[in-house]
Amino acid sequence: MVEIKTPEQIAKMREAGLVVAAIHAATREAAVPGSTTKDLDEVARKVIAEHGAKSNFLGYGGFPATICTSVNEVVVHGIPDDKTVLKDGDIISIDAGAIIDGWHGDAAYTAFVGGGHAPELIELSRVTEESMWAGIAAVKKGNKLIDVSRAIESYIRRQPRPSTGKYGIVEDYGGHGIGSEMHMDPHLLNYVDKRRMLGRHNPKLIPGFCLAIEPMVSLGTARTEVLEDDWTVITTDGSWSSHWEHSVALTESGPLVLTMPDGGKAKLAELGVATAPDPLG
Ligand code: MG
Repeated sequence: MVEIKTPEQIAKMREAGLVVAAIHAATREAAVPGSTTKDLDEVARKVIAEHGAKSNFLGYGGFPATICTSVNEVVVHGIPDDKTVLKDGDIISIDAGAIIDGWHGDAAYTAFVGGGHAPELIELSRVTEESMWAGIAAVKKGNKLIDVSRAIESYIRRQPRPSTGKYGIVEDYGGHGIGSEMHMDPHLLNYVDKRRMLGRHNPKLIPGFCLAIEPMVSLGTARTEVLEDDWTVITTDGSWSSHWEHSVALTESGPLVLTMPDGGKAKLAELGVATAPDPLG
């Protein structure tokens, strides 16, 4: 069952989303050579406290931190620690969330640490981010969930291939409904699999529907494995990967990107999509 939100509930999710946006801004500044991933977690923890929000990551299934810090070949769910020191040329995906009055926000981005990154890595992050935007632009009345999956996959497949062969669209993880919990129905595949998207697995997108859209793309395989810490997800071939995510609400007047300061207005305008007005003004 999909949880359909009232405009008042979407306004609460917008508040939570803006806390997530603040975590992104603060961690982006702190993700420099010499910082540890634990330092970034501290930064996130402070932002959450300053906003009177709660962490939805800390304690989730026993997760021991407030953000996930996934460096290079780590796809998602990397655990911040004081041994992982960021260095020039690394890429890091930072996934963050927050709760306000029981309503959740969740978003991730990939950052370049220092300089000296191969053009192919810069392109990997761009393709992943833009595929997320293609998915967000497909969040509209009349569409079904599979249209979002199709928009993400077809964007990636339309891009020039990397020299490693082709982009790996990670299959073991995907987007999800979000609202009174961080992870809710439906599961959103980042590629089209008609057999897995039948009936209730392929709901119609209607106003009040909220979705976290989060493609994960590697420069090699789509296959992943989990390390012995039971969290850290890496590509099986060690290829580096990127992860981008935003939480989006569909309203009567279009989509609103809850976890972006401008609600997604500037980027969606480029894609010819009008965003809903910000419920917080
Ligand atoms: Mg998520």
